[in-house]
Amino acid sequence: MVLDNLGSSLRGTLSKLQGKSRLDEDDVSEVVKEIQRSLLQADVDVSLVMDLSDAIETRALEEEPPAGTSARDHVLKIVYEELVDLIGESTEIPLEPQTILLAGLQGSGKTTSAAKMAWWFSKKGLRPAVIQTDTFRPGAYDQAEQMADRAEVSFYGDPDADDPVQIARDGLEATADADVHIVDTAGRHALEDDLIDEIEEIDSVVDPDRSLLVLDAAIGQGAKDQARQFDDSIGIDGVVITKLDGTAKGGGALTAVNETESSIAFLGTGETVQDIERFEPNGFISRLLG
Ligand code: GDP
Repeated sequence: MVLDNLGSSLRGTLSKLQGKSRLDEDDVSEVVKEIQRSLLQADVDVSLVMDLSDAIETRALEEEPPAGTSARDHVLKIVYEELVDLIGESTEIPLEPQTILLAGLQGSGKTTSAAKMAWWFSKKGLRPAVIQTDTFRPGAYDQAEQMADRAEVSFYGDPDADDPVQIARDGLEATADADVHIVDTAGRHALEDDLIDEIEEIDSVVDPDRSLLVLDAAIGQGAKDQARQFDDSIGIDGVVITKLDGTAKGGGALTAVNETESSIAFLGTGETVQDIERFEPNGFISRLLG
């Protein structure tokens, strides 16, 4: 079963439905409440949880389970379909030359994700380069260089320069022999105007094929504003969720995906360059409901 990692209370509620061929309103409302609880605990945006649970409730009451399907399996299928509908498949990342711009707040995991993605592309037979334009965070240059080194990929940065836009321009030139360019940008503690101005300028110089928003799995309800602002300024094509090796479930990513009408590209699952996975909806949904 797709959802076999369900949280214990949801599993308990569902097991009570075992053997029933039809669900009455009380059954459905109990399941929907458990699902709401799980999604809210996973930091999914409140209004999104409400929309989802309304859709699940309506379908569970209106749709007849197909012959041979138990009511329990039917409701599970509906839950799964509604979540897949929202989250979608992973962002398409073609294995071809391209430029990827990473955006996000400071500490979200951009620099780490840049090196991880470069490592991932190199394992797929491409020749990636990381371009570090973060002149704001002390240590960003050294960290990016070390990680690119560990990933065994090309790297460009300039610890003495203070103009990120110029670094981006120089970096693309200096790494012209690479086929995939991953451009890391500076974050801030919050969405300040200068951050937005800066990333817009970098975006126009770099002209990326894809812009990915990097979000810490623990972002919670703050994901909405962040996603909106980055999407308005540079257009977000996909989301990278980091720190999924921790306890946070990453529900903020759902909010971001919904807000930007995009999808999830990669998951970060640790601190080393190999700790990266392509997004896959089944596992993520089980985690959200677990
Ligand atoms: P940036 O400011 O957005 O560039 O963020 P960094 O890449 O520097 O990451 C901030 C912190 O989060 C660093 O200590 C990273 O090692 C850590 N980090 C990033 N991604 C992950 C992840 O997937 N799992 C864990 N456990 N830590 C991560």
